[in-house]
Amino acid sequence: MTRPDGLPAQILHFIDGKQVPSIGGASFDNPHPVTGQPYCTVAAGGPEDVAAAVRAARAAFTDGTWPGLLPRARARVLHAIADAIESRDDRIAELEAWDTGLPITQARGQAHRAAENFRFFADLVVGLHEDAFRVGDEQLSYVVRQPKGVAGLITPWNTPFMLATWKLAPSLAAGCTVVLKPAEWTPLSASLLPQIMTEAGVPDGVFNIVHGLGEQAGAALVAHPDVPLISFTGETTTGQVIMRGAAEHLKALSMELGGKSPCVIFADADLDRALDGAVFGVFSLNGERCTAGSRILVERSIYDDFVARLGQRARDVTVGAPGDPATQLGALVHRDHFARVMSYVEIGLAEGARLIAGGGRPAHLAEGNYLGATVFADVTPQMRIFQEEIFGPVVCVTPFADEAEAIALANHTRYGLAAYVWTGDLRRGHRVARAIQSGMAWLNSHNVRDLRTPFGGVKDSGLGHEGGHHSIDFYTDQRVIHVAVGDPRTPRFGVRAD
Ligand code: NAD
Repeated sequence: MTRPDGLPAQILHFIDGKQVPSIGGASFDNPHPVTGQPYCTVAAGGPEDVAAAVRAARAAFTDGTWPGLLPRARARVLHAIADAIESRDDRIAELEAWDTGLPITQARGQAHRAAENFRFFADLVVGLHEDAFRVGDEQLSYVVRQPKGVAGLITPWNTPFMLATWKLAPSLAAGCTVVLKPAEWTPLSASLLPQIMTEAGVPDGVFNIVHGLGEQAGAALVAHPDVPLISFTGETTTGQVIMRGAAEHLKALSMELGGKSPCVIFADADLDRALDGAVFGVFSLNGERCTAGSRILVERSIYDDFVARLGQRARDVTVGAPGDPATQLGALVHRDHFARVMSYVEIGLAEGARLIAGGGRPAHLAEGNYLGATVFADVTPQMRIFQEEIFGPVVCVTPFADEAEAIALANHTRYGLAAYVWTGDLRRGHRVARAIQSGMAWLNSHNVRDLRTPFGGVKDSGLGHEGGHHSIDFYTDQRVIHVAVGDPRTPRFGVRAD
């Protein structure tokens, strides 16, 4: 992919409206996913940088105007952010593709979704109301919603720009001020946010970024006493570390974690659509997608035929340079991640799964983290490739005999993020969707999002939900004020009977 013009030589923190290096001067190299060559340095934040960012955010919260603005005024700024994102969608997509290896067309889609995140939460807060309760003529209780304070936002490297906005939009809409800690492998697109926020009129200190390694910058944010809530998206094991760190200050946590989602295909489904959904569901976004349908469960009567069609489609997925509009599957994000995904290909082969597509670097791509769309058939539920999140373009296929076995296989994992069910029998579809333990299920569809709905997982896939008013609930405290409007009876302790 051609190097985009005007790449920054160094990516800095953004604290109190200013781009700043780390206080101690530390930085790390940021490699390009195709060549592996570092193309810029990134400020490596530590506790002191986090403390400076939290100080700025805290001051903007207690002394600034942002939390007290009427929702309409905040919404105007959020729409301006969305405008600013839309006006540079090509640039966002170009930088995202360059830094993450995502195909450019999909990166552009993610930029549009990022703008939509701001528009959605702008509209939502304007329409938000607070509850009131009446007890006869004696008491009225009303709820006051207040932003919680400085929100700590920790994001992963897959779709980094969109996922940052998924947290920024509701936290800012709710009136919080924020410190964002982007993933260390993909800091580039976040470097556009300072200009976007400033152009839109976000006051200094309301939005801050501290770059750096998770164990340093991320952990410092989790440990900071003036950050009452952490919204985290990333691996389940990291989520567990964060929960332990957050316990010290009893922080509110929203945890969007890993997945190993089943895509269940019954013989009576529209098999052409099911095939489209299954292929897109696991190979889009390079397979680096938390809701990827990475376990395809197929009814035995159509198994051989479906596996053959799936294998053919996978072999025909266009693997190529992230910047090429024809590319459907780009370069994996980092050499280490590529090695990890490849190790799962080895594991699958060693476990005796049948490789029917991919499994290695396509012949026409001599360098870079490229892996052909990979399909393992005859995968059994005991295999590690069935159980563990691979987070790359690798899918397992397993046959099932009947509905009960399909449900049992779907649930035979520690994860419970998403599920996809394909059947022509709607009653069965509802039944199976309900029986699968997942935070979200799609029936006869791939992952089409509705931002109003609760997003999150069960089991080891997460804790809490964001999306719609659930996000606003997370970023606000709801306090209740009880008012005596009559004379509620008060027992008169200490008054003598005589
Ligand atoms: P990761 O857990 O390695 O890192 C995520 C973020 O946490 C990064 O910013 C990292 O620097 C930070 N971090 C790491 N250690 C930390 C610590 N000790 N304290 C504080 N912060 C720390 O995850 P990743 O590899 O960047 O992302 C891939 C994972 O994210 C996959 O498991 C995927 O399923 C998951 N994911 C989940 C969702 C969802 O909505 N459920 C969405 C996208 C990705």
